[in-house]
Amino acid sequence: MQKKTVLVTGGAGFLGSHLCKVLLERNNRVICMDNFFTGRERNIAPLKNNPDFEVVLHDVTSPYSFYVDEIYNRACPASPPHYQRDPVSTFKTCIFGALNALELADKWHAKVFQASTSEVYGDAAVHPQVETYWGNVNPHGIRSCYDEGKRGAETLFFDYHRQNKTRIKVVRIFNTYGPNMNPEDGRVVSNFIMQALKNEDITIYGDGSQTRSFCYVDDLIRGFLCLMDSDDSVTGPVNMGNPGEFTMLELAENVIRLTGSKSKLVYRPLPQDDPKQRRPDISLAKQLFNWEPEIKLEDGLKKTIEYFRNFK
Ligand code: NAD
Ligand code: UDP
Repeated sequence: MQKKTVLVTGGAGFLGSHLCKVLLERNNRVICMDNFFTGRERNIAPLKNNPDFEVVLHDVTSPYSFYVDEIYNRACPASPPHYQRDPVSTFKTCIFGALNALELADKWHAKVFQASTSEVYGDAAVHPQVETYWGNVNPHGIRSCYDEGKRGAETLFFDYHRQNKTRIKVVRIFNTYGPNMNPEDGRVVSNFIMQALKNEDITIYGDGSQTRSFCYVDDLIRGFLCLMDSDDSVTGPVNMGNPGEFTMLELAENVIRLTGSKSKLVYRPLPQDDPKQRRPDISLAKQLFNWEPEIKLEDGLKKTIEYFRNFK
């Protein structure tokens, strides 16, 4: 079978680097496009010897053109401290990044995949979150550049699909963790593990009663491939994440136990608009692809702790 040419924007980031690896294992030609805003050379270094792997240093807000069979549009900082570092650029990345990917997909009649997010549900009033829920998002808060950017990107995807019959695949990703996360990323799993390994105070924002559902990266990437391989009638949006729900205090206790750390908990102010409760309803992904996560939080944390322990 002829090799497919697959573009992964944001390919040097946490999720993008795992996806590039799996796509190469599936015998594709992979083009990794990144501006290294949060991506890192070390994530893709092991792939660089593969002749089917190419890295393009490019900002997705500017148009680009080359032949592709499939596009995974994943470029965008995902951690609140990073997407809030340059909110105008985050918003542009979401919107122009989506537009440029959709234009290229139309040109070659390629499938185009959008990495959307549970953030489109905002501080959800419906729990667990199901795809039919329209969300509760502050349009002008500090999270809006990301939340509204991703909502705008979904709008573009579905308008291109209705107007041009573009072959779209939209996934709403819930909190995912694992190796290749940046220790400086600022998200809760990497923060807690790094703090625990250094026996430093563990920073709980608010009272730690807010919940999140954590999916191990391998489970998520398996889900991405199910969605991309599905026939064109399956557009999403489809939730992907692990339905196990934990408070941040429970997460901290797990990390302390698994690292054997002497860290103490310290409490810091809760950031503005921080969602109180989050858990995906994954019935749709189960029904469409028979997909559900297999890796329990404890096992995924052990693998991630091992990665950070050996991080140099
Ligand atoms: P990440 O920050 O590790 O990766 C993002 C990548 O995009 C980085 O390599 C970065 O350099 C690149 N990038 C950012 N802006 C760019 C631009 N303008 N042009 C080119 N490259 C650019 O984050 P991640 O966790 O791997 O997330 C990847 C995607 O998945 C994002 O779109 C994010 O919104 C989505 N997502 C992730 C999660 C999660 O829990 N990890 C949850 C929901 C959605
Ligand atoms: N959080 C925390 N301590 C940290 C980092 C984050 O208590 O050092 C909390 C944060 O307030 C949020 C949850 O952990 O309630 C998840 O935060 P993260 O930034 O990982 O993702 P998101 O809020 O986008 O789900």
